Amino acid sequence: MKTYPVYLGACDTYDSAAIHSVLKTALDHVTPARPPYGKVVIKPNLVMAHPRVATDGFTRPEVVEGVIRLVRETGNDVERIDISEASGLGITTGGGYRWAGYRRLKKLGVRMRAMEEHPQKVVTLEKGRLHKHLTLTAAMADRDFLIFVPKLKTNVLAHAYTGALKLNIGTVDSRERMLFHDYRLPQKIVDILEAANPDLIVTDGIRFSYGGNQMTQGGVDFGLIAVSTNAVAHDMVCARLIGLDPFKIEHIKEAMDRGYGPTSFSEIEVAGDYPRERAAAIVKDLDFGFYPVDRFPSNFRIVSGTPYCTGGCQGILLDWLHMIRDRKPKLLKRFPRLTVLVGKVTENIEDRIVVLIGDCARASTTVSCRRKIVIAGCPPTHKRIVWDMMVNLLLLAPLVRPSLIIDGFVAYPLKKIKGWLVNSGKRT
Ligand code: SF4
Repeated sequence: MKTYPVYLGACDTYDSAAIHSVLKTALDHVTPARPPYGKVVIKPNLVMAHPRVATDGFTRPEVVEGVIRLVRETGNDVERIDISEASGLGITTGGGYRWAGYRRLKKLGVRMRAMEEHPQKVVTLEKGRLHKHLTLTAAMADRDFLIFVPKLKTNVLAHAYTGALKLNIGTVDSRERMLFHDYRLPQKIVDILEAANPDLIVTDGIRFSYGGNQMTQGGVDFGLIAVSTNAVAHDMVCARLIGLDPFKIEHIKEAMDRGYGPTSFSEIEVAGDYPRERAAAIVKDLDFGFYPVDRFPSNFRIVSGTPYCTGGCQGILLDWLHMIRDRKPKLLKRFPRLTVLVGKVTENIEDRIVVLIGDCARASTTVSCRRKIVIAGCPPTHKRIVWDMMVNLLLLAPLVRPSLIIDGFVAYPLKKIKGWLVNSGKRT
């Protein structure tokens, strides 16, 4: 029977030398099919980083630095190392690199690739159930060796767990990112795996980010570096370590069912010096914030219809509510009393103001109100919800800050134009 090794190393500090040392020990237990070679791509989680409002939900540069040093030391004929990412929320990946402190990594001879502004390539999928082709950075499409460096964190859009498998949402361009980002998110995540299946995975679990919005939530010292060569085995072990059942996390289950890794823990060999009882003691009383959106306590009366899209409207609304609670909890008390519909609702709804979130909610025909606010999309993006809640209800999410507004509404469109010029006529 094939077994999948996963190494759990203890590391309490964001010191790249200490991290590098843990990684070297890990490679005594976890051996990639071949050493890093040729064009190496490192994919971190930089969905969002910002020194004031998004401080704990991204892969720290010290971990990536440890990985780069490992590649330089153990690699074979390494031609180049690229870091490739597509940040979320319609902000620039370049801003993410800057705010997360990645720019200093350039001195190690790596290139920073940003999906929206650098060369792209279209790859065809043979096993995709939803996607038949995907647009990746050219660096990602042409790579010889891929290293995922996810953050250990919770995410209410993905059954409370985001790790190696979910990381590949950030490998595709922004338009494709939102396609099927609804109840089909698990299939989508596994489709992308065909184009971006890592050869090595290193999780930054030195701090564990949990409990709120995937970008703005806080964290707790956890002291872990996890290493493996299979994304399914990796996520099964890390999910269980934080007290979740991987068999109830739909994208992990989907990847198991589609043959991307082990289907039981008996196929996984866990090694390393990380004390499991430490993880159990840390997560014992933590609330991961993953529950039905209509149970979120606020002045809003939230009515959830069908479908229930954990990865779509309901999940994104829950994520927005968490974002307020994470960084501006007093604002929750100032929410106006109104009704929010999410998903298609068939019961009679009467209120002075009704907010309809998503195209299914728009299709609800039983609404009687004086003012109707529609936030369209399937699903609407985070950026759209943040903007429309601000414009219509004067609810300023914590992300409404000058630096992020300039980045999202000035720099991002300019980077997109640059990307369009760079790629025009070049995509294959
Ligand atoms: S509009 Fe929203 S609720 Fe309807 S399918 Fe799309 S994501 Fe799901």
